[in-house]
Amino acid sequence: MAISPKPDLLSTSLADLQQLCTKLGQPAYRARQVYDWLWRHGARQFDDMTNIPATLRQTLADHFTLSGLTEDVRQESADGTIKTRYRLQDGRFIETVIIPVREDRRATACVSAQVGCSLTCSFCATGKMGRIRNLTASEIYDQAFLSARQSLELLGYPLTNIVYMGMGEPLLNFGPVMESIRLITSPDGMGWSPKRITVSTAGIAKMIRRLADEQVKFNLALSLHAADDEKRNQIMPINETNQLASLMESLEYFYQMTKGRISYEYIALRGFNDTLPDADRLIKLCRRQFPVRVNVIEYNPVEGVDFQKSDEATIDRFARRVREKGVMITVRRSRGKDIDAACGQLANKAG
Ligand code: SF4
Repeated sequence: MAISPKPDLLSTSLADLQQLCTKLGQPAYRARQVYDWLWRHGARQFDDMTNIPATLRQTLADHFTLSGLTEDVRQESADGTIKTRYRLQDGRFIETVIIPVREDRRATACVSAQVGCSLTCSFCATGKMGRIRNLTASEIYDQAFLSARQSLELLGYPLTNIVYMGMGEPLLNFGPVMESIRLITSPDGMGWSPKRITVSTAGIAKMIRRLADEQVKFNLALSLHAADDEKRNQIMPINETNQLASLMESLEYFYQMTKGRISYEYIALRGFNDTLPDADRLIKLCRRQFPVRVNVIEYNPVEGVDFQKSDEATIDRFARRVREKGVMITVRRSRGKDIDAACGQLANKAG
């Protein structure tokens, strides 16, 4: 599909819209109305802007595009997990997952930051796609916005959390990711508290420091998956240039500057990182100058990958050992496996 030469209205700031309205002889409040339609109401068709005069809507349509996401395939897992594949304006696809916990009336949207991913973690289906392109801020925002709507419609209660843990490495698409969070947390957008948002990274020390310098208010998750460099190098090539010592220093700095919540994601891989010596290395890594919570995640099979999931008893033994040493640790049973919506499985396979 050819990309339209017209600029995207979703990349236009409120100040630019105000200038445009002045130029078109429109009252200043029109800019605010259009902006509200775009972000607070999520309008992705000019005709949705019902209180904007038809002539202005037409002028906007003549000069701008509106690059919304189109729902392509939606799947629901037996456990209630909802995976939606969206088509982007250029014909590419991304996936967004909602993980509900109905008994607590909680629902977490897992949003993508890139089409594919360049980091080639060996256990991950997205990494096998390679990086195709970065998402724009609005493409990320729209996943959150549409997930909030889906949560109300399909689950009957509001979305409670957003995690940047879908396809791609968020910190390698820094500007658009930050802008999407600004919009999600702005009263001009979804008006969310940043405390309900978690950005997950495979671990890029320089970028974690940048988050610290920007004094962000959201939570940070490190996809750790192994507590020593040798093993981590084997499964996450990014570790070769971002060794654990430098990652730990960057996390300490992040905590110093933001006091934000930090967690480690740890996918349990049978015989690789689930032994008691692995648990001891993890405990050691958790003894730093910042509080941390560990989330152990069940591994989900990915085609063409040799790893096996750890059995429940092994995971429980591992978690017990870590917990006994005073580290906060939670075991998360995998969700959405039957529809390839689980951690590390997103690869636009549906349909
Ligand atoms: S685990 Fe995350 S960072 Fe690693 S390849 Fe998959 S999407 Fe990329």
